[in-house]
Amino acid sequence: MLTLDFHPSGRHFLQIPGPSPVPDRILRAMSLPTIDHRGPEFGALGLEVLGKIQKIFKTEQPVVIYPASGTGAWEAALVNTLSMGDKVLMFETGHFATLWDKMARRLGVEPEFLGLPGYDGWRAGVQADMIERRLREDIEHSIKAVCVVHNETSTGVTSDIAAVRGAMDAAGHPALLMVDTISGLACADYQHDAWGVDVTISGSQKGLMLPPGISFNALSAKALQASRTSQLPKSFWAWDEIVAANKTGYWPYTPNTNLLYGLNEALDMILGEGLDNVFLRHQRWGAGVRAAVDAWGLEVQCQDPAVHSPVLTGVVMPEGVDADAVRLLIYKRFDLSLGMGLGKAKGKMFRIGHLGDCNDLTLIAALGGCEAGMKLSGVELKGSGVLAALDYFATHPLRTAN
Ligand SMILES: *Cc1c(COP(=O)(O)O)cnc(C)c1O
Repeated sequence: MLTLDFHPSGRHFLQIPGPSPVPDRILRAMSLPTIDHRGPEFGALGLEVLGKIQKIFKTEQPVVIYPASGTGAWEAALVNTLSMGDKVLMFETGHFATLWDKMARRLGVEPEFLGLPGYDGWRAGVQADMIERRLREDIEHSIKAVCVVHNETSTGVTSDIAAVRGAMDAAGHPALLMVDTISGLACADYQHDAWGVDVTISGSQKGLMLPPGISFNALSAKALQASRTSQLPKSFWAWDEIVAANKTGYWPYTPNTNLLYGLNEALDMILGEGLDNVFLRHQRWGAGVRAAVDAWGLEVQCQDPAVHSPVLTGVVMPEGVDADAVRLLIYKRFDLSLGMGLGKAKGKMFRIGHLGDCNDLTLIAALGGCEAGMKLSGVELKGSGVLAALDYFATHPLRTAN
């Protein structure tokens, strides 16, 4: 058993970039009795949720909801649109892009994994010009899809999806555009229809402030067309029966009723606040946390200021410091969970989540835990990140969009 150096009273600080803290209001909504998923009450709930979720993706096209984690919705996007041996272009932004590439290979698709050399790609966003160049070379149009991660949760980079769409249009290439915004949705602006995305993949436990267990595919007419001829095996993930049943608010199988209660509540909270206000709040938190990292004299993982994530910040440890040891000390001493370095970033950095149900003072507390933990671990800090963030928050009052 893990021995803790604190008395675990008060609330745990869940500052990983998903699952994010679930507001009490959502937990209460989920505590309603489980109802008959074929009864009239459920159909009304289904229609309500399916209508509201379109607003979050900024789409008027169908959004499929799966009782699965985000990984399931990744698989759904691929198996509904592609056939064995199809070429797809993926872009290495970090660990999640790498996992999606691995999944595509396991399913019998042939991904080409484009990226900047070595570790550089893990400190930058999707390079739309590289995608355009590669697509221009593909005169026979053998590439069937371009797959990118919008918010790369392993590094803290939010890529420009409109630029990827622009690159595909400039190359005059007919490939489908598939985007993972599992951690970006309801934190950073996302426009499924306006950006011409064919399949958008998302999940419940990040910006939507829900427990894990629901994931999404937002579709386009072109994606639905591709699903009619795609040959990869699918049954549970197949869009056709789900989209048909959804017309009356039902699913072909048992959906996770109580999570849908929670989703309905989350959607009311987010749409009530206004998406633009939600985005501003996340941008401000990101800027405050980056001010802290700067004051510590440390580096942020993302090196391109144009694509800093409003969802999380990767904090790079100085050479020779094991980021995982620092994280464990912080967990044991301060009851604070931080995200670990994943894949190529393992041990080199930790991640502070600033998404969903946070506020200035929960972030100040999290930064306090980081600062004390790094000092106890012998990391040399230039100054106080906590004070820098406090100053940033005090001098940058929250603006609202309306
Ligand atoms: C969390 C996450 C995933 C994986 O989702 P699971 O719900 O853990 O299956 C995939 N991509 C990104 C960008 C994520 O943040």
